[in-house]
Amino acid sequence: MTELSDTITFLGTAGARFVVTRQFLASGGAWLNLGNTQILLDPGPGSLVQAAKRKFDPVKLDAIMLSHRHLDHSGDINIMIEAMTEGGTKKRGTVFAPSDALDQDPVILSYLRSYAQNIQVLAEGGSYKINDISFRTPVRHKHPVETYGFVFQTPRHTFSWITDTRYFEDLAGHYAGDLLIINVVRLKPGAPLDHLSLPEAKDIIKELKPRIVILTHFGMTMWRARPWELARELSAETRIQVIAAKDGMKFDLAQLD
Ligand SMILES: [Zn+2]
Repeated sequence: MTELSDTITFLGTAGARFVVTRQFLASGGAWLNLGNTQILLDPGPGSLVQAAKRKFDPVKLDAIMLSHRHLDHSGDINIMIEAMTEGGTKKRGTVFAPSDALDQDPVILSYLRSYAQNIQVLAEGGSYKINDISFRTPVRHKHPVETYGFVFQTPRHTFSWITDTRYFEDLAGHYAGDLLIINVVRLKPGAPLDHLSLPEAKDIIKELKPRIVILTHFGMTMWRARPWELARELSAETRIQVIAAKDGMKFDLAQLD
């Protein structure tokens, strides 16, 4: 019997409008391989293409998850539901999304909803299960639409993902884990205020002291400043290993052991 592993593959690292619309970086979300469970998180524009390019099979997905309805996170969710269910011929998989992704001006088309085995609405303080994986959505983020981050627990690892939000007091406190992934759109704080900036990410890292940090979801100012160099500086300043995600990067959580 082969030993089970947990890996995260970045099908894209683009954040916010310009980096996404010009595809300076890809915007396909992340493919989580957690033991025998496969989850697609935030399938933005190009997710289907990126998944195919990286040889991931949507038919093997157990779940598709949406942190929030903005297009850079949800652009390909419908086609990925279709792919997961083989065009609706096999009723399978769970779709997790905040209520406003399903209710008003929904980003998940009504006719596809019966294709999935299950649609679960994410809410503040919720806990959810997919096979032997559990995850929580501890707090509603400060973002123009209903948005959640995640704390995942596998039989082997705990990791957190702080998705889009403006900084707020006690944000960090909700996201303890061995590995912390942070969406860092901006190099410097300032307008638009709905996203985290690098100095805010640094404060969060210093407060939480995870084993390893991965930065992703880069806006134009971060991308221009070379995320891998910023990550190296942040590692030196915080004495915590900080990695800048790259398109196609596969991170094995065994690095935390
Ligand atoms: Zn957003």
